Amino acid sequence: MSGTDETPKVVFVGLASCFGCQINITNVEKHLMDVLGQVDMRYWQLTSSDPMPDSFDVAVIEGAVTTEEAKRTVRALREGADAVITIGACAATSGIPGMSTEDHAADLAAVYGEQVPDAAGAGAIAPCAVKDVIEVDFEVPCCPIDPYDFVEVLQHALYGSNIYRRSSTLCGECKNNERGCFYGRETLCLGLVTRSGCGARCPNLGRPCNGCAGLSPDANVPQARRVAERAGVGAEALGRALRMFNQRPCADEEA
Ligand code: SF4
Ligand code: SF4
Ligand code: SF4
Repeated sequence: MSGTDETPKVVFVGLASCFGCQINITNVEKHLMDVLGQVDMRYWQLTSSDPMPDSFDVAVIEGAVTTEEAKRTVRALREGADAVITIGACAATSGIPGMSTEDHAADLAAVYGEQVPDAAGAGAIAPCAVKDVIEVDFEVPCCPIDPYDFVEVLQHALYGSNIYRRSSTLCGECKNNERGCFYGRETLCLGLVTRSGCGARCPNLGRPCNGCAGLSPDANVPQARRVAERAGVGAEALGRALRMFNQRPCADEEA
């Protein structure tokens, strides 16, 4: 760790996001305090107006990269931190901001008219995931994150161990819950192609998965389209649903 004393320093930065993942972290106060007892939370926009410290050990990033300034910010965080953690779908896949169309300028104009605020428009780029700009060491998936996942990942980052990330799709976890499958009810569910790890939380609550954990490396999208067609849901509907948490590379490749 590169801090000036023995206590690891952690900084939090929010980019294009709703701040919901950070708020969720504040909801696990007891567990957070267990970790806080071991770390110095130097800079957390949500809870403090303190300026960014000169040195820190772990950078936690929420939100998609949507401006040139955000690109510079994440590069500086990468340079300064021993470990970078992204939290939430916005940071991991560009998430909700990534739903913007190819014509990002037109989308900004549609939302803000002629008065696009600097925070949204100055140096605007097509939204992209943090890992499209810098190397990311740890990801806490989902929208919003499970704050207990964050506590676990932060501990892995602090103590230098790798974290096991599942590659399988959600259906295996869902089948363990024995709740049946939405495709038997002509209802779209993205669990077919979504990375496992959340325990199939939404199907277990009676709601289809909308893919907030991102595509599984094992996902077979063409086969999922065929399943959707056969089930009467339609392959196009599956494609449209996938856009909510798509992965969009940066338009500008000079990273
Ligand atoms: S992942 Fe979801 S909850 Fe988290 S910042 Fe993005 S939109 Fe908000
Ligand atoms: S309901 Fe969704 S997650 Fe569960 S088995 Fe069916 S497709 Fe997979
Ligand atoms: S079931 Fe799907 S949408 Fe729900 S939390 Fe898990 S990955 Fe996200």
